[in-house]
Amino acid sequence: MANLKIGDRVKIPVHKVFHQESGHFGKVVYISEDGETVTVKCDRKHNGKTVAFNIAFSSIRE
Ligand SMILES: [Zn+2]
Repeated sequence: MANLKIGDRVKIPVHKVFHQESGHFGKVVYISEDGETVTVKCDRKHNGKTVAFNIAFSSIRE
């Protein structure tokens, strides 16, 4: 997944504060200029809301 781009679907890693549910996928909506951080919008609702998470790029490269 070295060439991640806007619109790609990725598995959202579990984060103990921001994203506790496993097995969720989302779409990349933003990649930081330095390529270190991506913003992923989760496909699933969280408490009835659509949410986006900032994720370290290294944590979604598998
Ligand atoms: Zn989610």
